[in-house]
Amino acid sequence: LRNRLSDADLLREQAFLAGEWSDAEGGKTFGVTNPSTGETIAEVADLSRADVARALDAAHAAQTEWAARTAKDRAQVLRKWFDLMMAAQDDLAAIMTAEQGKPLKESMGEIAYGASFIEWFAEEGRRIYGETIPGHAPDKRITVIRQPIGVAAAITPWNFPNAMITRKCGPALAAGCAFVVRPASQTPLSALAIAVLAERAGMPKGLFSVLTSNSASAIGKEFCENPVVRKLTFTGSTEVGRILLRQAADQVMKCSMELGGNAPFVVFDDADLDAAVEGAIMCKFRNNGQTCVCANRIYVQEGVRDAFSQKLAARLSEMKVGDGFEEGTDFGPLIDSAAVGKVKAHIADATSKGAEIVMGGSGHEKGDLFFQPTILSGATQDMAFATEETFGPLAPIFSFRTEEEAIALANDTIFGLAAYFYARDYARIIRVQEALEYGIVGVNTGVISTEVAPFGGVKQSGLGREGSRHGIEDYLEMKYICTSL
Ligand code: ADP
Repeated sequence: LRNRLSDADLLREQAFLAGEWSDAEGGKTFGVTNPSTGETIAEVADLSRADVARALDAAHAAQTEWAARTAKDRAQVLRKWFDLMMAAQDDLAAIMTAEQGKPLKESMGEIAYGASFIEWFAEEGRRIYGETIPGHAPDKRITVIRQPIGVAAAITPWNFPNAMITRKCGPALAAGCAFVVRPASQTPLSALAIAVLAERAGMPKGLFSVLTSNSASAIGKEFCENPVVRKLTFTGSTEVGRILLRQAADQVMKCSMELGGNAPFVVFDDADLDAAVEGAIMCKFRNNGQTCVCANRIYVQEGVRDAFSQKLAARLSEMKVGDGFEEGTDFGPLIDSAAVGKVKAHIADATSKGAEIVMGGSGHEKGDLFFQPTILSGATQDMAFATEETFGPLAPIFSFRTEEEAIALANDTIFGLAAYFYARDYARIIRVQEALEYGIVGVNTGVISTEVAPFGGVKQSGLGREGSRHGIEDYLEMKYICTSL
């Protein structure tokens, strides 16, 4: 990996803690492997709760001074950080592909997407406006100001090792908060690399820490129990989100939660089928199906069902599975053997209940963590993927007859993050977009992520929004000031 980088200084194994590069207490480390080759590419500091507590104290101390600066001053540090990320895009992408497995072109895309949140919130931080309210008595004046919450702590997943951090630290730092993150143990190197750039951009010591650790639950407890932390922001499964919300309740901590998806992707009989197939490819198979907004259930209206699945199979068969560094790779490995196991279990469950394999269905000759892109037909609501995210390259095709039925099926889940549908009839488009119980709806598109729009879920998919002018609200407190003359 080091040889692929033009700036090998970006590859770090120590944690970035309280403004210093540090080993863990007792020198403990854990290995980071390349999921494509199985090779260990780094031994990273495995921090203890005491190390994390030290980072939180430093964050607390740095935050007061940071919040007292002008918004413009904070914006300039963030802007510099954004510029350094874009200048290092090739190296950051190579580090990501090495630890996460995604094709290099997807990693390049993620670095640009991730950096865009730093740029966006650098700008947005200068527009944290207050209010004046006409008083309730002749001698009373009312103003409302918005202030940073304080120290924000984040726990992030491995599927987007860069962007899931920048979406959170961009608004937090722009608002005047301090920020510490515990990156997923599979992908700490991408997080450490941006910490190198933060330091170069002039981030004050202690304000931003990357706390690598193999023990998620210990760090989660420290974040919830340490009184310095005022805000917890998490992206991951609904299961872990519930644990963290329970833990955070003891301190009545503000929480943002970006949780599981189980997105429906609905194709009506008046849709442009070729466009729907392209959308399904983007939305189902990006990052090999390992995103929380990936289509998990594909509902196709009866009359176009067979045509859609044939077109989808034809398009998928042109795509290539391989190592993320190989030219032309569309699908890399899955993250680990548990991920492969889940895809296999969902296929076995579905075929035992009558689904048929249209293409794929088993492991791939490239290696243990590679899997063939798979299409199943005859999917029904009693199959496991109807209620759980597969998080892999499995496209189950369900069929439906009427619009009402499609809406009911799409909403038949505890989740409510993203939903997609393809149709041309104008009135139908309006009816369906309003009826879907989701935080995000893609109409005739399979790609919805951008820093300018509010990303987030309803129901058990989460709390809060990331991106857009709303994203900074999650890091601000409102203060009402009543002044008597
Ligand atoms: P994913 O399927 O994306 O791995 P998880 O919810 O399991 O979803 O993990 C998301 C992040 O939360 C990861 O960084 C993981 O290590 C961390 N995590 C898992 N369990 C806990 C826990 N009990 N407390 C805090 N963090 C946790």
